[in-house]
Amino acid sequence: MLELYNTLTRKQEPFKPLKGKKVGLYSCGPTSYNYPHIGNYRAYVFVDLLKRYLLYNSFKVKHVMNITDVDDKTIRDSQKEGIGLKEFTARYEKAFFEDLKSLNILPADNYPKATEYIREMVAITQALMKKGLAYKGEDGSIYYNIRKFRDYGRLANIDLNKLRAGASGRVKKDEYEKDNIQDFALWKAYDKADGNVFWETPVGKGRPGWHIECSAMSIKNLGKTFDIHCGGIDLIFPHHQNEIAQSEGWTGKKFVNYWLHNEWLLVNGQKMSKSLGNFYTLRDMLAKGFPAVAVRYLLLSTHYRQQLNFTFEGIDAAKASVERLNELIRKLQDIKGSSKSGVLIRKEITAAEAAFEKAMDDDLNTSEALAAVFELVKSINQHIGNSSIDKKSAEEALKFLEKVDSVLGVMNFSREEKLPEGLMKLIDEREKLRKSGNFAAADKIRSQLREKGIQLDDTPEGVRWKRL
Ligand code: AMP
Ligand code: ZN
Repeated sequence: MLELYNTLTRKQEPFKPLKGKKVGLYSCGPTSYNYPHIGNYRAYVFVDLLKRYLLYNSFKVKHVMNITDVDDKTIRDSQKEGIGLKEFTARYEKAFFEDLKSLNILPADNYPKATEYIREMVAITQALMKKGLAYKGEDGSIYYNIRKFRDYGRLANIDLNKLRAGASGRVKKDEYEKDNIQDFALWKAYDKADGNVFWETPVGKGRPGWHIECSAMSIKNLGKTFDIHCGGIDLIFPHHQNEIAQSEGWTGKKFVNYWLHNEWLLVNGQKMSKSLGNFYTLRDMLAKGFPAVAVRYLLLSTHYRQQLNFTFEGIDAAKASVERLNELIRKLQDIKGSSKSGVLIRKEITAAEAAFEKAMDDDLNTSEALAAVFELVKSINQHIGNSSIDKKSAEEALKFLEKVDSVLGVMNFSREEKLPEGLMKLIDEREKLRKSGNFAAADKIRSQLREKGIQLDDTPEGVRWKRL
C-alpha cells in the first residue's frame, strides 16, 4: 500500500483518498516572472512522479496547478521592463508550458490563473472579515488576524504562544521569514507603486495577496476539503500555513489531508536560486547538449525529501542511465526466435516489479525503485549476451519497462528516429509562422534546417522531415 510522508503530521501515513479511487491534487505552480530553473523543475517533476504513481495504482487524479500571474514580483518586474502585466506574464507562461512538455510532465487538468479568480478571493476575504478573522488596517489593506485561528503554526511547527511577545504588527509583503510571523495581507490596498494593476472591488481598490490566490483556486476547483497539496519546502511557511488559515477559517472544514513537500536542488551545497545566480534553466541544459529526459531522470532519481546536489557528473550519469535503458529497449525489440530461458526471465521480471512497487510505496523511494529496475536491466543484458532470451520473454520484459516508464517517463519505445529537441523546436516555430502567413520567416527556418541536413515537406497531414 502506498504510504506518503505528511508534513502536517510529520509521519509517513498510508494514503487513503476521501472518495474511493478519486484523488484531488493541488500543486503550487510557477510565478510567471522569469524562466524557471531546473531547481524549480524539481518541484514539478516531483508532483508529476507522484501523480504518475497514483495513476499506476489505478487512482483517478484530478490535478490542478495554478499560475501566479499577479503578485509583488510580477508587478515589480513588469514595471522594470515597462510592459503590461499580462504581456509580461504571458511570455513566461508560454516558456513554462514548453518546458513541461520537454520534461514529459503530464498536463494538469486545469491551470487556473490568479487574475481570473479575483471575485472568489474577494468573497473569501469578505467572509473572513465577517467571521472576525480579518480586519482592515489603517492603510486600507485587509489582514488576517493570525491569533484568531487556533491552529496557526501547526503545519510549520511553530508555537505561537512562544512568539506572543515578539510577534506583532502586520506584513503586506507576500514573502517573509519564520522569525517575522505577523498578520498577513489578504487584500492589498492600492499603492501608487502598483501602477495600473488594481481591481475595484467591494473590499476596496487594490489587488490580492499571494496566499489567498491558492486558497481560492484550489477550493473552487477541488472542493473545500481535498486530498493532496504539494510544493517545495520553502512554501510550508508562510504560504501553505496561510492557505490553511484562510481556507479553514472560511469553510470551518479541514482543508487538505496530505501535505507533501520536496527538498532543494543544490549547487555546491547551496539552494539553486535566481537570487544567488547559481542556476541553470532547462534551456541552458539543452544548449549544453543534455536532453530534457536526462534532466528529468536526474531530478527524480533522488528521493524527493532528500537534498540533491547538482553536478555535471551527475547529469552525465543521468544521461548515460537513460541511454542504457533505451539501448536495452532497442535490443529487446530486435530479438527474434526462441530459446528455453523464458520462464527464468519471467521470475526476474516479477521480482523486479515487486521491488519497484515496494520502493515506490515507501513514500516514493525512487532511488531504490531505480536500483530494482537496473538490476533487471543488468541481468537481461547478460541473457541477451548469452543469446538465452526468446522473443516472448523479450516482449514481457518490454511490457514491464513500459509499465515502469508510465511512472518514470524517461524511456523511448518508438523505433522512429528522433531529432534533437532544438531542431524539433525550429520545425514547430516554422509551422506557427507558416500558419500565421509569415512565409518569409518560415522559409528562412526551412533553409536553416536544410543547412543542417534536414529536409521539410509540407503534406496534408502536416509537416514531415527527413535527413538529406
Ligand atoms: P517560485 O516560482 O519561486 O514560487 O518556485 C516554484 C517552485 O519551485 C516552488 O515550489 C519552490 O519551492 C520550488 N523551488 C525553487 N527553488 C528550488 C530548488 N532549488 N530546489 C527545489 N525546488 C525549488
Ligand atoms: Zn500556492
